[in-house]
Amino acid sequence: MSAMGRIGVLTSGGDAPGMNAAIRAVVRTGIYYGYQIVGIRRGYAGLLAGDMIDMELGSVADIIHRGGTILRTARSEEFTTEVGQAQAYENLVAAGIDGLIVIGGDGSLRGAAALAQRGIPIVGVPATIDNDMAGTDVTIGFDTAINTAVTAIDRIRDTATSHERTYIIEVMGRLSGQIAIAAGLAAGAESIVVPEALISSEQICERLQRGFQRGKRHSIIVVCEGAGSGYAISERIEALTGLRPRVTVLGYIQRGGSPTAQDRILASRLGAYAVELLRQGQGGYMAALQGGQLVSVPIEQVVGRPRDFDSQLLLLSQILSI
Ligand code: ATP
Repeated sequence: MSAMGRIGVLTSGGDAPGMNAAIRAVVRTGIYYGYQIVGIRRGYAGLLAGDMIDMELGSVADIIHRGGTILRTARSEEFTTEVGQAQAYENLVAAGIDGLIVIGGDGSLRGAAALAQRGIPIVGVPATIDNDMAGTDVTIGFDTAINTAVTAIDRIRDTATSHERTYIIEVMGRLSGQIAIAAGLAAGAESIVVPEALISSEQICERLQRGFQRGKRHSIIVVCEGAGSGYAISERIEALTGLRPRVTVLGYIQRGGSPTAQDRILASRLGAYAVELLRQGQGGYMAALQGGQLVSVPIEQVVGRPRDFDSQLLLLSQILSI
């Protein structure tokens, strides 16, 4: 891209802490290199509606520590159609945008791949609390989400210990147990239930009973929402043991909040690198982190692909909570 070009930036799908830091990095790096930056509000829905604003250095002041996204985000059914994508492309051309940065999860990057085929250079930035994307070690928002979950579980543990009860904490993750595994390990959970490695209620009860036999009077079970409802698991445990674990569904509390330093740094690096990739004419890539290094991976190769499941952390949590 020539140094006089216009770069559009949008956030799409579920919001994730650190999206603002990524927007800030795109705007500031872009302006540093001489580009004009156009913020597209409400993701693809805003692109279809032509909801755009010119961004200056000051547009992204005072946002690095804020959760959510100042550009707001949305899901757009219309954009998934051929007609919608043709309209989106026309709106980009009409706005003089010659490069686009899409910050979002797998679905958002699928949309980016479809739009890129119409001939506009697009770079994706992986941002979703679920950490369920292939091609990158970690996504923006994951670290904050697991820290939020761990803080909540620590508090519930205080009550669990005091009342000598078993608690089930249901965490987010529709298809991926990444949050459950990381938060469960960090919070010292006795059992972690994830869709990638389902365990039966009988196995959970065996672990509970082993704990009781050695004097444990409380227990924490972390359940990923994609592996079943915490309430249903509680009922099955009651049927098998007579104990009725209390259930807490963390829900949307995991999506918001001030991003951790780790997420701010990751978002700053990936946002700046996305501009760098457009500058080098590398459209059609996702800015990613692999082994701590910034890398570009073809979007087509990562979207729609499940992340490889690493069972090591799950195994470790089982050993440590024996
Ligand atoms: P998260 O996983 O954090 O919720 P996401 O980016 O995966 O984020 P989605 O709702 O899957 O969230 O996708 C966001 C938007 O991207 C959709 O509303 C839609 O407009 C667009 N999109 C998703 N999948 C596709 C697709 N296959 N083709 C074109 N556009 C898509």
